[in-house]
Amino acid sequence: MSASERSPEGATAPRHQSQLGFATRAIHQAYNPADHHGAASHPVYFTSTYAFGSVADNDEAAALGGKLYAREHNPTTELLEARLANLEGAEAGLVLASGMAAVGALTLSPLSQGDELIIHRTLYSNTTTMMEQGLPRFGIKAVPVDLNDPTNLHAAITSRSRAVYFETPVNPTGDVLDIADIAARARRAGLLVLVDGTFASPALQRPLQHGADVVLHSLTKYINGHGDLLGGALLGGRELIAKIHDQGLRFMTGATLSPMASSLVLRGMKTLPLRMERHGSNALAIARMLEAHPAVAWVNYPFLRSHPRHAIARKQMSSGSGMMSFGLQGGFDAARHMLDNLEVITLAVSLGDVETLIMHPASIVRARKTVRPEAKLQSGVGDDLIRLSVGLEDEADLLHDLKQSLDKL
Ligand code: PLP
Repeated sequence: MSASERSPEGATAPRHQSQLGFATRAIHQAYNPADHHGAASHPVYFTSTYAFGSVADNDEAAALGGKLYAREHNPTTELLEARLANLEGAEAGLVLASGMAAVGALTLSPLSQGDELIIHRTLYSNTTTMMEQGLPRFGIKAVPVDLNDPTNLHAAITSRSRAVYFETPVNPTGDVLDIADIAARARRAGLLVLVDGTFASPALQRPLQHGADVVLHSLTKYINGHGDLLGGALLGGRELIAKIHDQGLRFMTGATLSPMASSLVLRGMKTLPLRMERHGSNALAIARMLEAHPAVAWVNYPFLRSHPRHAIARKQMSSGSGMMSFGLQGGFDAARHMLDNLEVITLAVSLGDVETLIMHPASIVRARKTVRPEAKLQSGVGDDLIRLSVGLEDEADLLHDLKQSLDKL
């Protein structure tokens, strides 16, 4: 590493952290081997509590923000929080046990009974359930609007509005919403701007630079990238993140990320920029192939030049991720046949993993209705929509698998 110097133990430590590129920071940020017996990779602190040599030491730790117990403090988890905050361009970070734990802590901490939260009409299905069924039980009203047109925000704002919440790109469509435009309007009305950036990761998009106050990630997806754990993160201003830590995490949810999971996310993140490049190049090749295939009715991948929101995507993302949706001429039934014909691509609901994953939300909703009659497709999602999370396999193999499956329809 060029911008580095030898520490007394002979390990390398970056000299000018602030000048280092994203990939270098994803590997080194906030960690100096010299502080850890020269260990080149971070240690994992498996402990639930912390021991003190004296009552005075215990008093001091308690006064310093309650660093007595693993729900309040863990060095491995704090390394992950510091690194993530740096990559996202945030003052502070907080990680939690899952993306949904992050949604819960983020909404329950700053909002109170009587408040209103404006949400985009299409969100990850469980986030919608939290907003539309969970929050109202605590007297918080979620107001859905179509933020594809940011001017729609104005009609939804009342004296009780506190924040606007949206995903971009949106799950499951892959559509992009204009962060800067929505944020400028929301801020003028004194609202907090909360953005779920899971579909892009900070390697491709950093919403705080466009006016967001807090960015949420499901670490389960691209940031960990290997499909072997659940995690969530909130990145934003120091004061708000501290409040969410002190209330939302400490006593309202208690949803701490385990140190082992923190360590695995730190490992996964080291290859985040490299993986995102390959997710994006594979996805663009697939989107182009799908667009030209006669069995395909439509493709939603904002980094296709033909996409109506391509300019917005380019304004706020450095390139496309692996997420897209498409529909077939044969609609619902063809989607089911197409998924059954696949040989390499995995039929599964998650996303952002090294494996290419595909799902048909309408089939899942239909099956769920047998146990949860209220299950329904998100607003803005048709029953033909197929969601594809393009992985890191060889481009030619993915193209071949999708083509052979479409050709059989
Ligand atoms: N946000 C988005 C955009 C998601 O896609 C998901 C999960 O799919 C979540 C949040 C929730 O994350 P988790 O599954 O880690 O709880």
